[in-house]
Amino acid sequence: IGRAERMNFYILTLFPDMVSQGLNTSIIGRAAGRGLLSIRTVNIRDYAFNKHQSVDDYPYGGGAGMLMQAEPVYLAYEAAAAEIRTRRQGCGEQERKPRVVYLSPQGAVFNQCMAEELAKEEDLIFLCGHYEGIDERVLEEIVTDQVSIGDYVLTGGELPAMVMVDTISRLVPGVLHNDVSAESESFQDNLLEHPQYSRPEVWHGKRVPEVLLSGHHANILKWKREQSILRTKERRPDLLERCALTEQEKVWIGKM
Ligand code: SAM
Repeated sequence: IGRAERMNFYILTLFPDMVSQGLNTSIIGRAAGRGLLSIRTVNIRDYAFNKHQSVDDYPYGGGAGMLMQAEPVYLAYEAAAAEIRTRRQGCGEQERKPRVVYLSPQGAVFNQCMAEELAKEEDLIFLCGHYEGIDERVLEEIVTDQVSIGDYVLTGGELPAMVMVDTISRLVPGVLHNDVSAESESFQDNLLEHPQYSRPEVWHGKRVPEVLLSGHHANILKWKREQSILRTKERRPDLLERCALTEQEKVWIGKM
């Protein structure tokens, strides 16, 4: 599957305003306005099945806090999945279950490689938990991927979903004005990006490195590559181990 022309995100949440307001600005907001992305929130509370519109209850067996109940989450998922199904049928596509990401501190830790893989999908559903989480049975039934944004616990999955949507959106063609910029950034090839400078040439007595003003393209590329390697060695030596260095670069870095 190649990269989709338009990426459709569905975010199942109890706090739709938080997500839509957070993703409605700057580059992502403009890309949505240009039709490159569609970011839809589904309010799980709209699928509450009791008159009090409650969506949470006490966990069986005791324990702190409340748990989101299975049925409203399932119905919210069904609403998003039905829309995806209808659109895919309209395009004559074969029926297959959409990818559903549950944001969870228990999931695999999100990284750029995962973002690139997910960016190949045309539709992605994100499920945001809240309180103590979600009834396990509905997770078993609908979730295809569990993803964490780091080894810490947040109050809800909304911020993690926004982090993922932002990261994946940047990889959709046309979202960034300059597609090259996504390719030279940190984590591409497991290297951190080199330092960057803008005008003026001298600021607080600090000069922009001479090579960047030289106009010598090959030297500039060499400098950027070396700076990337150096920075990665200093700040993230774990990444450097997985990076494809030339034999010459290995010798050079080994002498440092
Ligand atoms: N009781 C759960 C546990 O120990 O695994 C934590 C629940 S947490 C307070 C509430 C919700 O926040 C989770 O259901 C999840 O959606 C979200 N969340 C919290 N930390 C997260 C993280 N590091 N990455 C992704 N989602 C997270």
